[in-house]
Amino acid sequence: MSTILCVLYDDPIGGYPTSYAREDLPTLDRYPNGQTLPTPKHIDFKPGQLLGCVSGELGLRKFLEEQGHTFIVTSDKDGPNSLFEKALPDADVVISQPFWPAYLTKERIAKAKKLKLAITAGIGSDHVDLQAAIEKGITVAEVTYCNSHSVAEHNVMMILALVRNYIPSYQWVIKKGWNIADCVTRAYDIEGMTVGIVGAGRIGLATMKRLKPFDVKLHYTDHHRLSETIEKEVGLTYHANVETMMPLCDIVALSCPLHPETEHLFNDKLISKMKRGAYLVNTARGKICDRDAVVRALESGQLAGYAGDVWFPQPAPKDHPWRTMPHHGMTPHISGTTLSAQARYAAGVREILECWLENRPIRNEYLIADKGKLAGAGAHSYTVGNATTGSEEAILFAEET
Ligand code: NDP
Repeated sequence: MSTILCVLYDDPIGGYPTSYAREDLPTLDRYPNGQTLPTPKHIDFKPGQLLGCVSGELGLRKFLEEQGHTFIVTSDKDGPNSLFEKALPDADVVISQPFWPAYLTKERIAKAKKLKLAITAGIGSDHVDLQAAIEKGITVAEVTYCNSHSVAEHNVMMILALVRNYIPSYQWVIKKGWNIADCVTRAYDIEGMTVGIVGAGRIGLATMKRLKPFDVKLHYTDHHRLSETIEKEVGLTYHANVETMMPLCDIVALSCPLHPETEHLFNDKLISKMKRGAYLVNTARGKICDRDAVVRALESGQLAGYAGDVWFPQPAPKDHPWRTMPHHGMTPHISGTTLSAQARYAAGVREILECWLENRPIRNEYLIADKGKLAGAGAHSYTVGNATTGSEEAILFAEET
């Protein structure tokens, strides 16, 4: 029998919901590349329920306990006295969500003697020291594609929110004002602007497709160039490296994974190559940007706005400067955990667990590391190494609460 240790975010302050804003979710069968949605044998939840919090349990308890496995669910994840760290030595499987990541550092992996499988309930396994996982032969899997379109929608929303100055205008309504001039002195149309996407994978391409009807000029950079057919269909200009794209863009959006190659890619030097007054949107990972360089660029006017939902570490300490810097449109890490996305990744985690417990292969597209090397989707988009350093700071959030 196995011990499955699952880290999820806290329940809503008012308690687990008893009703929802909508009755149902649209039914999707396939993603645009033909990949099927998760196909577990069964699910024990109703799509549309809150599954990503502690009481939601990703809808897994019945399934696991009926088979005699031990299922531990907690939000207490940071520091040596956390329930996560105490339960880790007995865990065969760890499940964690990027929104509330249980950082699996090298030190923690060394303590997790029984650990064989680390599942990301979502996309982005940078909270795992992949180098250490590979060396210990731990399989790392994520639910590829489950929330890519959720994030692409968020990208479009954040681009529009920044350029059109939505958030300060909304705040004037709350303050009972009608201050049109205050609202519009920083408001523009995106029509005609040049948008550059860093990483034209599932999220990046979906973002560009969704932006096309706004009559913007679309540029992108990636390791691998998209096919000529897609470039023509969406109207894309390719750049072999990020540096040549930067001076052209009014808006840059990040959709590449965090791995050693992209850590702090957007530092003072690269930001200085952007057009003065450009906007930067980051729904990929906080650490792709140098925290203080972003603050400096907003203060100097080099950036006109920065928005995103990803931070480092997570949860962000109360005094994280991105909470208070000018002209930002930050949210907590939410874009990939809408109720729509949760239904997909909870089903995907169940599919991965069914495969693992029945000794069947996990889909190749879900694999990040396996059998001592990068594998599946991970072999395509990641580089080996470690991007978890500094995550100890996450404990500050709990200490300051
Ligand atoms: P994909 O793997 O489909 O796409 C990532 C793309 O980034 C790939 O095309 C990859 O290149 C490219 N890439 C990798 N390194 C670089 C680099 N140095 N410069 C330019 N491009 C690079 O992943 P998704 O689109 O599904 O997700 C992307 C990331 O978004 C995730 O890794 C995760 O960090 C983040 N994410 C955030 C969520 C949220 O809630 N905010 C939810 C889901 C994901 P290639 O494969 O061609 O080598």
